[in-house]
Amino acid sequence: MGVSDKFIRAVYEDSKGNYYIGCFLEGGLIKINPNTKEYKIYKNIENDDSSISNNSIRYINEDLYGNILVGTSHGINILNLSTDKFNHYTEKDGLINNTIYGILVDKNNGIWMSTNAGISKLSTEDATFKNFTITDGLQSNEFNGRACFKSKDGNMYFGGINGFNVFNSQDIELSTFEPKVIFDNFEINGTNKKDISNIKFKSNENNIKINFFTNDYKNTKTTQYYYKLEGLENEWNMTNSNSLVFANLGSGDYTLKIKTITQHGVMSDESSVHFTINPPIWRSNYAICIYLILIIISILRYMHKVNTLDRLVNERTNKLRKEMEKNEQLFKKVLSLEQNKNNYFVNLSHELRTPLNVLSSINQLIKEFTKKDNFITPEKLSYYMGIMDRNCSRLLSLINNLIDHTKIENNIYIINKKDEDIVYLVEETVLDMKDYIEEKGLELIFDTDVEEKVIRCDKVDIERCIINLVGNAVKFTHEGGLIEVLLQDLDDKVKIIVKDNGIGISEENQKIIFDRFNQVVDESSEQKGGSGLGLTITKQLITLHNGEIYVESEVGVGSEFIIILPVYSS
Ligand code: ADP
Repeated sequence: MGVSDKFIRAVYEDSKGNYYIGCFLEGGLIKINPNTKEYKIYKNIENDDSSISNNSIRYINEDLYGNILVGTSHGINILNLSTDKFNHYTEKDGLINNTIYGILVDKNNGIWMSTNAGISKLSTEDATFKNFTITDGLQSNEFNGRACFKSKDGNMYFGGINGFNVFNSQDIELSTFEPKVIFDNFEINGTNKKDISNIKFKSNENNIKINFFTNDYKNTKTTQYYYKLEGLENEWNMTNSNSLVFANLGSGDYTLKIKTITQHGVMSDESSVHFTINPPIWRSNYAICIYLILIIISILRYMHKVNTLDRLVNERTNKLRKEMEKNEQLFKKVLSLEQNKNNYFVNLSHELRTPLNVLSSINQLIKEFTKKDNFITPEKLSYYMGIMDRNCSRLLSLINNLIDHTKIENNIYIINKKDEDIVYLVEETVLDMKDYIEEKGLELIFDTDVEEKVIRCDKVDIERCIINLVGNAVKFTHEGGLIEVLLQDLDDKVKIIVKDNGIGISEENQKIIFDRFNQVVDESSEQKGGSGLGLTITKQLITLHNGEIYVESEVGVGSEFIIILPVYSS
């Protein structure tokens, strides 16, 4: 069979004819079917609550329902043959002692067990125990193995170390005494306290000893207490001690509940005591509030910082973008100025070359005449001299314009303001040009709405401006055209208009004609004899007089140059 434990303590044949062998030295329970010779060994299996509770078998019996009752060195086991599983009961469940010596069953299926500390009766319907000790009249609390017997009349015999007891289960009177658990005193970190109910302890006052007793004085040695410390555990624990120690309790609310049971199975009401252990200061509600506030402040500060940084970055980015745009515009302007400067020098070179070419050709011509001893007639000579004269004065005026313009730009141009009759000044200048204008086949009209108007100005400069404007009108108006010079009195100002019905100026060119560097390369300017400086100087001179000049023109219709001069300029 392979059973090593040969110390057999119990042998039993059940009502169905099965044999049970109880091994004492850890061999467990063996069940044998004598007909089939089949057998089964029941042994304790760790962590399996349905296996037998102990392998040291002391006594075997059967209850009225055919369940096998197995007394061991650690409680009683009831083997249910239909499920082949064990229920077991130990001191934890209320059994008076775990060492089972004998088991008898009364006619109500009450299971009576003699033990090493008295007799226990188990009612299987409600799994409760009634316990009996020497105080109930037992020969002693200690019984002997297998010394039990039930007579036909139902009397039970249990033998022990001091004789035997015989009783009929029906005759046993149970005490109905209701016990009570009374708290004796408490020790907090070793210091005595009479009462701790509803006290709030500091976090380090967390080693608590609770002493108590029961008023069931009859049976103080085997008194069983059931307790649980709510806040720490939910299960009931059992103890035979009159004190409990809880060490290093964490913070929280605790309620100790404790109850006891008499040996005759009467359970007491719960006695309870409630106390609190406060968390340490750094975990108190105040501390948590402060932490929360600090965290919120930190988050707010962080968010504020991020927002400020964000704003600064945005501002800086916008500033940089604007600066970049500005720089780009400046760069474009410099580029275009450079371009215009080039244009201007190209134009200027043309301007210089044309009269020089004329002078050089005439010089060549006269040389040829003298070489071949060809006489040149005085008429021809005077004609050539006239051409040379005009081209010299053109060159001179060009260079004068250039010099004056540079002087004005460098603030060294001297302007000599005096009280002048502007009506007289303009009329005289225009009339001086009358012959020249009519020679070109153009009509000239001068008109004024005032006889005389004295303003402070430089006579030479104003004359020069009028000559420039009228000269341009002549240049850019076809034969048969009309040139008008009009003068209007605006009280503190004077308006001078030089109007023609010539070729006109495109809108694009109107924007640039007052700026010498903006002058477009104009191939025809050579024939027309311009330097591109006339309007630039005119505008500069008018500005020096605190006046203004602008143009209104339409291509193919004509142009109107308007000068407005203040009467008193500083
Ligand atoms: P320039 O000495 O070459 O004439 P200005 O500064 O006097 O230079 O004139 C600049 C340009 O403006 C001329 O080249 C011409 O294209 C234009 N302009 C000036 N006045 C007139 C006008 N009355 N009609 C048409 N175009 C004009």
